[in-house]
Amino acid sequence: MELDTLYQEVILDHYKHPLNKGLSGTYDVQVHHINPSCGDEITLNLTVRDLNIKSITWDGVGCSISQASVSIVSDLLLDKSLDEAGSITEQFIELMHSKGTKEGDPLVLEDAVAMAGVSKFPARIKCALLGWMAFRDAADRIKQSQDSGDERGGSQ
Ligand code: ZN
Repeated sequence: MELDTLYQEVILDHYKHPLNKGLSGTYDVQVHHINPSCGDEITLNLTVRDLNIKSITWDGVGCSISQASVSIVSDLLLDKSLDEAGSITEQFIELMHSKGTKEGDPLVLEDAVAMAGVSKFPARIKCALLGWMAFRDAADRIKQSQDSGDERGGSQ
């Protein structure tokens, strides 16, 4: 129970003091995602350079879980490569589908493990996933535009 209280505090802290909130003037991709069942709504701007995430900014309204989750995403995935961010996203999705049986790896998910308890409440899972889904959508669009637009033969 003490752990739950600590996790509550992590979530409330992100909700009250959100990170990277306020949309950047420039971005590569902007996405807008909603969670109609709860009324959560976010807009997310993503900027990527050389396959690394240079900026994630967002704005939104909704419940504390959804808004805290976007704040966590915007901080956790910053400066990660798109591949790394993709695998972290997969781990979080897996955690949310665990029905409370998994705790999540704090070394990978950091503050996002505070959301582990949400997986026991099916109605709230979409709240917790909103920011991650928005990020994944934005990242996919960037990958698609690079696949079709870039000349091949770069490094790596
Ligand atoms: Zn919600």
